[in-house]
Amino acid sequence: MIERTLVLLKPDAVKRGLMGRILSRFEDAGYKVAGAKMVWITEDLGRKHYFDVAQRRGEKVLKALLKFMTNGPVMALCLEGINAVDGVRKMAGSTEPKQALPGTIRGDFAHISFAHADKEDKAIENLIHASGNVGEAKQEVALWFKPEELHSYKIAHQEHVF
Ligand code: ADP
Repeated sequence: MIERTLVLLKPDAVKRGLMGRILSRFEDAGYKVAGAKMVWITEDLGRKHYFDVAQRRGEKVLKALLKFMTNGPVMALCLEGINAVDGVRKMAGSTEPKQALPGTIRGDFAHISFAHADKEDKAIENLIHASGNVGEAKQEVALWFKPEELHSYKIAHQEHVF
């Protein structure tokens, strides 16, 4: 039941100075930060991370997405908690900020639509990536973090929230 999940604060979140506010939401909910680092990704890591996007969303989206994801550093986080994969994904909100509910990160900090992004030939800048399911989370955490970069420790929340 205790799971680890990968979160990336995308270049738009970093450049807009929203790292702290977004991380606070996860800390407030009681998730443990097992790992954290800034990474300026290469196209190669981008392709590995988004290996299935061309098939699901098309080559054009993958190209725009790689351009966006390599235009500045991201903050990579490994968060841990009870059913963390689903919980964190829920806090991120729907892929399209226009549809994402208020109260979610994508709904509160953006409002762009698929149609607008496609017309402008750019990726949807939606602030955050969160692993889609438990299997994906395992693969993504292993892709982004070495075992020694992940930490096991007790947080205050464990007495009351876990
Ligand atoms: P999610 O990040 O919500 O799991 P996907 O894995 O399907 O969504 O897509 C990866 C990322 O590609 C999205 O978060 C978004 O930044 C971008 N993206 C997806 N679809 C489009 C689209 N039609 N136009 C532009 N960007 C897109």
